[in-house]
Amino acid sequence: MDKQTEFVLRAIEERDVRFVRMWFTDVLGFLKSVAIAPAELEGAFAEGMGFDGSAVEGFARVYESDMIAHPDPATFQILPWRDSKPATARMFCDISMPDGSPSYADPRYVLKRALGKAADLGFTFYTHPEVEFYLFKDPLLPGVTPEPVDHSGYFDHTPQSTGSDFRRKAITMLEQMGISVEFSHHEAGPGQQEIDLRYADALSTADNIMTFRVVVKEVALSQGIHASFMPKPATDWPGSAMHTHMSLFEGDNNAFYDASAENHLSKVARHFIAGLLRHASEISAVTNQYVNSYKRMAGGGEAPSYVCWGRNNRSALVRVPMYKPNKASSARVELRSIDSAANPYLAFAVTLAAGLAGIEGEYELPDGAEDDVWSLTERERQALGIAPLPRNLDEAIRAMESSELVAETLGDHVFDFFLRNKRAEFAEYRRQVTPQELERLLPVL
Ligand code: GLU
Ligand code: MG
Ligand code: MG
Repeated sequence: MDKQTEFVLRAIEERDVRFVRMWFTDVLGFLKSVAIAPAELEGAFAEGMGFDGSAVEGFARVYESDMIAHPDPATFQILPWRDSKPATARMFCDISMPDGSPSYADPRYVLKRALGKAADLGFTFYTHPEVEFYLFKDPLLPGVTPEPVDHSGYFDHTPQSTGSDFRRKAITMLEQMGISVEFSHHEAGPGQQEIDLRYADALSTADNIMTFRVVVKEVALSQGIHASFMPKPATDWPGSAMHTHMSLFEGDNNAFYDASAENHLSKVARHFIAGLLRHASEISAVTNQYVNSYKRMAGGGEAPSYVCWGRNNRSALVRVPMYKPNKASSARVELRSIDSAANPYLAFAVTLAAGLAGIEGEYELPDGAEDDVWSLTERERQALGIAPLPRNLDEAIRAMESSELVAETLGDHVFDFFLRNKRAEFAEYRRQVTPQELERLLPVL
């Protein structure tokens, strides 16, 4: 038995843990959980725990449905929103097939495979997500726009506000679970919040995002309010992004930093950005996976609509933050497309793959856009070679369908399931007669 496993078994006794939740994620990014009794845990560590994969969205075909969950002892944490005596704990799981091979459908494995490819090239991938979401007074019922908890705006400080109480409690809980928070504030929309997680290796960050979503929802409920990560919950409010800052390290050195280069951006960083840009449309269905995601990016609200990069330019898809240009460890790029409803494992896997393709193929970085690209005319954008991002899920699906990069990164099974699921979503949406049409047309036609 290794040290981590021993640690978990001891913690279970010392902390009086009565339930251990085994967590994993389906292909669309929904958290799955099965609770086991502590007595079962030694067996679960040794042999894993069987479950019916065909019952999990995107996991398995019925004729090969037996799958096994293996808890990862490094992710053991007590759940601070449950009672402490007896306590409840959780661990993330890796999923395998009965023959022991990793499950092709497990998003955590998809990311691990992509990270393995980075490691073969000598890189560790670090990410730092800025997660935006809304807090509402009303329960979230289908078809109704709920009332936000406040009408404050960006960085507003309101004494004794629901938002700041909420953030304080959520951050305390995240820190109890070993997740460091760097920054938090009120965002631009009414009731909209942002909490930024400290940078960590991408697998830990993806696990942390899954935990974050649960913590945010639990804390909201404990305060009698309701949280949503929907990308664009109302036509006139800004959407909820999950801007992700990224860097590649070679050992202790930030491979994106070069003291002698223009803007201190190394060749590796320039190729990485070029990769994100060239493959932006192909990976869009994964970073922005819902019909609703494209409403967020339909113009303004500081969400990107065009494929370009810039220093300090918030209209660009990729921004190179210039807060501390001389500090090697903080050199990074910010991808602004990913939204708060993405599956973090898959989104990180495809963005990493796009960046690595840029490095391996030595893609040349186009000139940066220093203008506000929303205010340019279509013709000006064309002259600058600035293409639009997919304008809706259908365009994103089409770009993904012919992408070798995405097929290889997700693996055939996830790639096929994902496309099938998204085509069905768009087909259903396409048939809808919307309130906007009824309002505009019914009275006059
Ligand atoms: N909420 C904006 C978006 O959807 C981002 C605001 C910001 O720059 O932080 O992308
Ligand atoms: Mg923000
Ligand atoms: Mg940002």
